[in-house]
Amino acid sequence: MSEHSVTVVRLDRIDEAAAAFALDVARRWMLDRAIITVNTKTDELWHPSVWVPGAEFADAVEPGPWLSGFLTTANNGVDFTAACDAFHPAGNDEPPACRQCSTPAEGAYEEAYGDWATRWFEHRIEPVFTCRACGWSGPAGDWIGEFSLLIGAPAITFNNWPNLRADVTNALRDLLGGRTGVVRCHL
Ligand SMILES: [Zn+2]
Repeated sequence: MSEHSVTVVRLDRIDEAAAAFALDVARRWMLDRAIITVNTKTDELWHPSVWVPGAEFADAVEPGPWLSGFLTTANNGVDFTAACDAFHPAGNDEPPACRQCSTPAEGAYEEAYGDWATRWFEHRIEPVFTCRACGWSGPAGDWIGEFSLLIGAPAITFNNWPNLRADVTNALRDLLGGRTGVVRCHL
């Protein structure tokens, strides 16, 4: 079965207590709107998440033909991650685009991928890529895209959900605070 997920992650570093607090506020925001509810039937294989779609989840997503099947989809939960983690796009992986000229960061992103990813994960040093077309430089999270590796905390992951509405994504980004990014994973 193919799986997809969308993660909203904070890139700017904050301490663990502040990360947990921001996550609590974001979770409360979603609970108040009934976008999520607690999973009363946790099942490691079928529905592993603590949180699942709430009664008003449809208000948070773009309308589409998915509606009939979504609630019965396996693993449609929402995961809140307080500790720093790596959010990998897996099968979706592609270099992000330059903020100035939209050229993909092909060389910079792909060369030494393992080195910068390890440094980012272990030491929280966000890599800086330079655009080979226009010379613009910026940290990975400032490049444009939703299909590239991001590392940070806290994070919220929607498993197998339809596309979130842009205003919902933006509200969650605001609640996590600082610089944030989005990763769309496909397995
Ligand atoms: Zn450029």
